[in-house]
Amino acid sequence: MKNTRELNFDSKLIHSGDFEDAFGSAVTPIYQTSTFSFKNAQHGADLFAGKEEGYIYTRIGNPTINALENKLAELENGFGGIALASGMAAVSTVYMNFLAKGDHMISTAAVYGPSRAIMDSHFKKFGVEYTYIDTSNLELLEKSIQPNTKLLYLETPSNPTIQLTDIKRASEIAHKHDIIVVVDNTFCSPYLQKPLDLGADVALHSLTKFINGHADIVGGALIAKDEKVYKPLRKTMTYMGGNMDPHQAYMVIRGVKTLSLRIDRAQENAAKVADYLEAHDKISWVKYPGLKSFPQHELAKEQMNGFGSMISFGVKGGYKAGQIVMDNVSLCTLAVSLGGVETLIQHPASMTHAAVPKDDKLAAGITDDLVRFSAGIEDVQDIINDIDNALAKI
Ligand SMILES: *Cc1c(COP(=O)(O)O)cnc(C)c1O
Repeated sequence: MKNTRELNFDSKLIHSGDFEDAFGSAVTPIYQTSTFSFKNAQHGADLFAGKEEGYIYTRIGNPTINALENKLAELENGFGGIALASGMAAVSTVYMNFLAKGDHMISTAAVYGPSRAIMDSHFKKFGVEYTYIDTSNLELLEKSIQPNTKLLYLETPSNPTIQLTDIKRASEIAHKHDIIVVVDNTFCSPYLQKPLDLGADVALHSLTKFINGHADIVGGALIAKDEKVYKPLRKTMTYMGGNMDPHQAYMVIRGVKTLSLRIDRAQENAAKVADYLEAHDKISWVKYPGLKSFPQHELAKEQMNGFGSMISFGVKGGYKAGQIVMDNVSLCTLAVSLGGVETLIQHPASMTHAAVPKDDKLAAGITDDLVRFSAGIEDVQDIINDIDNALAKI
């Protein structure tokens, strides 16, 4: 195989991570095995001692999973990838790895609900401290740094408030204080945003969303910028046991190949839906990075390679009116999750972010009238007709 690192992004989607197997399989085969036999006792001992490369046990490494990890590392321009059972396994592995008793984390107030809820429910009891702020405000970010701050955990665009954090400048501030920067890049995927190129230390993904893209598996990933960051993270994953399964890896390898085609279409649809919503008299506000009215439109153009397919909007009449919309769409699926080929619609305050206390939700901008929309790749006129019918019911 050619040096896939030198290929352009769309070619990496197809070829990176490929390896030659004994039978010339055209696609990466599934090594559905938990363990690997050693040639002899010395071979086993050498593998464990790291004197020889090879596979030992699937939680530690597996060819199918490694193929996905190598592909993701190349797509994010990172040193190494780690595939995990879910996005939350990636999140908890990050927290476990970078935070110890007495350490402090700064994070985006409107992060994915469970990424925040797990701090109160689990990490607090280990003596971890944390501050949730609007990380788009870089002055506030710098002021929030404490002597014990070890981790800056960003999500941009944030979920579901579609607030952008300037990754480059935030990373510069953090690195002056030796703080590790992790960016949840789920909403963009490496096609639209490359956090490591912008200065972050780790890019995190829920593969469940855009990268797999077909709403048929759950998975997560971490991509580290260099070996120094990668090695301890890999060890934490192996010890915590959040590893991916070979079949899951196969599904993601298959799904990610069409990432750019899917996102191109989905964001084209999203732009048209955002225009439609903005012009509708029953809609009170629309947030989509591609809109001229979007307050951070310029930053979006600077750090993203496209505006994505996620839209948040408010329906006049608040939650009641939003509920009528969600109950009357038929093509759009009422479901949490995002980034699949089908259009999804949901209400964060009562669904994805239900576990976040109400005051924290309001402080983060997750209001009761906010409806989250993930554009799929259906015909856009069918999507707009569906929303139009639902809005007419109010
Ligand atoms: C879904 C999601 C997660 C969690 O991923 P799972 O695969 O559901 O565990 C984390 N961050 C973001 C932004 C997400 O959308």
